[in-house]
Amino acid sequence: MCEFCVQHGEGKKWYLAMQNYSRELLDQDSRLDYLAHFANEFTTRVPGNLAWLERLSHTPLHGPARPFLKHQLQRDHYGQVVPLEEVEQILRQVDGIVRLPCVCRRVTTGDQNARYCYALTGDPRLAEVLDDSFSLEYLTAPEAIAAVRALDQEGLVHSVWTFKTPYIGALCNCDQDCIAYRICHARGYFQLFFKAEFVAEVDPALCTGCRQCLRQCQFGAIRFSAVHHQVEIDPRQCYGCGVCRAGCAKHAITLTARAEHPVAATIW
Ligand code: SF4
Ligand code: SF4
Ligand code: SF4
Repeated sequence: MCEFCVQHGEGKKWYLAMQNYSRELLDQDSRLDYLAHFANEFTTRVPGNLAWLERLSHTPLHGPARPFLKHQLQRDHYGQVVPLEEVEQILRQVDGIVRLPCVCRRVTTGDQNARYCYALTGDPRLAEVLDDSFSLEYLTAPEAIAAVRALDQEGLVHSVWTFKTPYIGALCNCDQDCIAYRICHARGYFQLFFKAEFVAEVDPALCTGCRQCLRQCQFGAIRFSAVHHQVEIDPRQCYGCGVCRAGCAKHAITLTARAEHPVAATIW
């Protein structure tokens, strides 16, 4: 299990421990204000932060700054990739689900109303603290599950996010327009989310080498072997999101526990 499970999971995966979604937690440490500030100021604050990170990456301070930035974000706003089946488990148990526009895509694509984000609370104060551009949609668990299943088919990676850890306030569905993806994976500035508790494996007895799964993977973890005419998944690159499974008509890809994997167990 990842370090958040150890710190905040009380023996389970931390994102399946429902106290981490509770209103009691939301009421502590000015979390609602933090969440509102995070969302309302995102488009004005983040472009400057990204420019600063890019400048930092060209200086010798980049190396020493990485653990510091990771530590700071682990305290305030950190994520973990979660596969569809566990997302469904979460959506069945939280006390409310609100779909709202994705703030990353507002910055990276200019789309003001890309509805890929889900707030995981039934707290009515959310509507009061977010600005009017966040026209909120209140969904039932079956509605949210159907919507997230459709996103999974499209290859969007699911992740949960804290607002002052360990409170989990959001479920995100991301592609390469995600700022966390760019910071953590594409640009490699510093780590901002954990990989999933899983890693994907291909069954060579089922794989026909059709390569449909390759298009689903945002992380470049799947490679086609011309020698074997099959795909291989690199466990060091795999984030365990599981969305490659949706591309495989042969059901050749499965998820296995990261903690028990001989190569991926120490890679989070
Ligand atoms: S993490 Fe993903 S869904 Fe959430 S705001 Fe960023 S791109 Fe949008
Ligand atoms: S989609 Fe399935 S069958 Fe096709 S290459 Fe990928 S794992 Fe193999
Ligand atoms: S290979 Fe790994 S990272 Fe790529 S889509 Fe599959 S589970 Fe996600």
